[in-house]
Amino acid sequence: MAFPSLTKDDIRDHTAGGSFERGQQYLANGAVQSLKQTDNHTLKAKVQGTDVHPYLVSIQFDANQVTDVECTCPYHKGTWCKHIVAVLLKALESDDLPKTEPAAVADLVADLDRDGLVSLVERLVEHDPRLLDQLKRERARLTGNAEHPDPSSADGPADA
Ligand SMILES: [Zn+2]
Repeated sequence: MAFPSLTKDDIRDHTAGGSFERGQQYLANGAVQSLKQTDNHTLKAKVQGTDVHPYLVSIQFDANQVTDVECTCPYHKGTWCKHIVAVLLKALESDDLPKTEPAAVADLVADLDRDGLVSLVERLVEHDPRLLDQLKRERARLTGNAEHPDPSSADGPADA
């Protein structure tokens, strides 16, 4: 799922008192760390500010817009702080947002049996029908059953 189309002006409109410019500076300084999309509508990152500990930023969004923002710093009341600005700018320049690590997915489904997995996938597809096409593609890739199979798999050494 793509991050909603947000422009820099949209971000600037939510800021006050130079937060936008300071957010740009933070981004340029590489202050945004471990940006990742933790689910289809949440983006999380750490922003290293002047404090020893990084601030934790959480962005909620739907297909159209940012719906909620949170930052652990004390400086934003009604407007977006420089940390939030830096994270959003970083998200805008990332073509493909890092997703939660596969290991976390493996943990999440570890206690599901086959039926559980099937109904999980069914629910995901129900939630986002486009997943069905991805599912078909990934399945073809996994089973080697693609429309144009890789010829190298057919004529490898027969035995060791
Ligand atoms: Zn902040």
